Amino acid sequence: MTKRVETTIYLASGNAHKVAELAALAARDGLAVEILSAKALGGMPAVEEDTGTFAGNARKKALALRAIAPAGTAVLADDSGVCVDHLDGGPGVESAYFAGPQGDSAANLRKLEEVMRGVPAGRRGARFYCLLYLIDAAGGEHVFEGECRGVLLDAPRGGAGFGYDPLFVPEGFSQSYAELGDEVKSRLSHRARAWAALSAWWRGGGAAVGG
Ligand code: IMP
Repeated sequence: MTKRVETTIYLASGNAHKVAELAALAARDGLAVEILSAKALGGMPAVEEDTGTFAGNARKKALALRAIAPAGTAVLADDSGVCVDHLDGGPGVESAYFAGPQGDSAANLRKLEEVMRGVPAGRRGARFYCLLYLIDAAGGEHVFEGECRGVLLDAPRGGAGFGYDPLFVPEGFSQSYAELGDEVKSRLSHRARAWAALSAWWRGGGAAVGG
């Protein structure tokens, strides 16, 4: 039987890892939606993430993709980052550019390892935060959030995931996201929790606003 598709959602991200995680979450949920990457529209338009807020940056990305998306479709942007207690919540919204404007994720990971060097075990708390910004087919704008608390390791461990995953141990575990892999991450991550909020809203009829 072919899957019933009510709405096509284009993901406003050039990050293949985010796209894969969101597409997997949507597929697992069985919502009547088709998730397509911005690649299907020729790629994610360049957007300067300069608003200083997760919501502002996510909205900018969503609007940029909506400008080239076919009428009658929805767009979804993800803005996320790691908020470290010892850095008063930083790098937070600047997570992608922690080590410089080039947005080099290996350099960002090294920098986080360096700034946390020598910080004692009891003061290594952090949380991942994700904001999903949905613009539905009718132009309605909706925000969903998720977070996951944990602690930062002294040194990166594991090969799965992306970004800061090798340094982050989610609460209740002793291995990093990069060691635990997709199955665990898809249950408790900031992105999984934000998606769960979107999904609950969608199931409750929210998406009817936009078709
Ligand atoms: P932005 O949302 O495009 O501003 O970038 C998010 C930044 O936070 C990137 O540097 C990512 O590496 C990092 N980040 C966001 N989500 C995750 C995650 O699930 N794991 C590891 N790093 C993440």
